[in-house]
Formats: sequence, structure tokens, C-alpha cells
Amino acid sequence: MKEGIHPNYKEVEVHCACGNSFKTGSTNDEIRVEICSECHPFYTGKQKSMEKGGRVEKFKKKFNM
Ligand SMILES: [Zn+2]
Repeated sequence: MKEGIHPNYKEVEVHCACGNSFKTGSTNDEIRVEICSECHPFYTGKQKSMEKGGRVEKFKKKFNM
């Protein structure tokens, strides 16, 4: 990518598997995620039994947390 030239960065809707949707900036037309800040225990503070065993670590790794 050449310096000074930016992709078509725009506001898009992110659709989560939990049913939540929110706006974010991206060059994509639409984003689909399996987990978001509304349903992830890392953000909600609620620990669901189904979330135990790797999903949090996987999420952290994905986002370099
Ligand atoms: Zn969600």
C-alpha cells in the first residue's frame, strides 16, 4: 500500500452470533463475528460454563491481549 493512499475506510455494521450488532470502522462491507463485547465474559464479567476451556484464551490471543 502506498503512503498517503488510504483504503475506503467507512462505518460498517458488525453482526455477532449472539444477535448483537454494532458499528465499527472497516474497509469491509459487513463483518460477522462469533463473539463480541456484549456477549464475551471477558467484557461482561459473567463466566458462562460454555466459555470455559480455551475460548477466552483464543480470543485474547487473537486480539493480542
Ligand atoms: Zn455477541
